[in-house]
Amino acid sequence: MKRHLLLLFFIMNSLSELNAQGLGQKLHDSHVLYQEKLITKRRFGHKIVLELIEKIKQNPMFEVSLGTQSSEGRDVFLIKCGKGKTKVMLWSQMHGDESTATMALFDIINFFQAKDGLDFLRKELLENCTFYIIPMLNPDGAEAWSRYTSLGIDMNRDALALQTPEGRFLKNMQQSIMPDFGFNLHDKMRRYSAGETGHLATISYLATAYDQAQNFNDTRKKAAQVIVGMNRNMQQFIPKSVGRWTSDFEPRAFGDNIQKWGTSLILVESGGYKNDPEKMYIRKLNFVSLLTGFQSIAEKLYQKEELTEYNNLPLNSKSIFDIIIRNATLKKGEISYKVDIAINREEKPIKGGDSFTNEGEIEEIGDMSVFYGTDEIDATGMEIIAEDGIVLGAKGNIQLVKNGQIIYKIEKGRIIK
Ligand SMILES: [Zn+2]
Repeated sequence: MKRHLLLLFFIMNSLSELNAQGLGQKLHDSHVLYQEKLITKRRFGHKIVLELIEKIKQNPMFEVSLGTQSSEGRDVFLIKCGKGKTKVMLWSQMHGDESTATMALFDIINFFQAKDGLDFLRKELLENCTFYIIPMLNPDGAEAWSRYTSLGIDMNRDALALQTPEGRFLKNMQQSIMPDFGFNLHDKMRRYSAGETGHLATISYLATAYDQAQNFNDTRKKAAQVIVGMNRNMQQFIPKSVGRWTSDFEPRAFGDNIQKWGTSLILVESGGYKNDPEKMYIRKLNFVSLLTGFQSIAEKLYQKEELTEYNNLPLNSKSIFDIIIRNATLKKGEISYKVDIAINREEKPIKGGDSFTNEGEIEEIGDMSVFYGTDEIDATGMEIIAEDGIVLGAKGNIQLVKNGQIIYKIEKGRIIK
């Protein structure tokens, strides 16, 4: 009997270890089962949210309420689920053109409703926590694909002035629910690097500061501890590509104030990932990252995490260009000189649609030895043929030729050959 108990003890122990380390992998591999099929592109409007809300309302496990209306009269919803003591509030797209986490939130809502081999996790999360989800907090901005609300105000600078109805709603929710944990979900410029390296900061986290001195009280410490676990999980998918967002105190921002108002606030910023212009892989990473964060909260795993690990996360830096052509020999009259050429890709929306196209632009010419290219070309010994010249602001449509053969062809900020 004793031996059996001992065996059981070992099995239970290795199971929980598998849960902690292997859960992220399982979620990653099974995301496709929960991926909301109505959302296939990064640029989608409020109509899709309305359609999804109608679907969610059909399931009694969710309590859906109309939270507020945007300045242009669009509905903002609050979705509540779970019966647990720990309150977790999440909001996405306070900046209208930052939709990656909104996609992931609807995937998570699908995950909560499924029945499969991950039932143990669902049960644990929904019994220990109550979730308050606000997807697409700025629907007017989403419709216009703009950072700002339709009043032209950056909602994340409106936490004190409270001039936007969407911002007032967010503050009201925090003050009335008083969540233990809050997730403030954003996108950032996709070329940020994790530290001064060539690794894109595909995901960045921040336990926002609540004062100028950037102290850690219990509230902020808990947020940082949850981040440590989330980061460890992310490292298996995007090694060295997780960053820490700058923690300078911004007295007008929601993240900073909500931390001050007593909710452990975790900022998640979705950046770039090579060959993922629609951010569908980053959507999957958000899904995994949030669920592993919830698990850490539900099981109180975060209590064992060290603050030093949080502080060791590399800070976001601007060290990356989309393409760097190195060792290019250029000529101007009689002068011959050697430079590196940095090209970035910029999104141009297709008018009236939910799609975009890209254009390239030469951003820098000269010594780029302290920077990295997501793609790099060594142009030693190659002739450079440029459509509109090698000058700042040119589109950078370039052919690199050697012995009469085109070796590389760059168009619209991409290497196409
Ligand atoms: Zn943002």
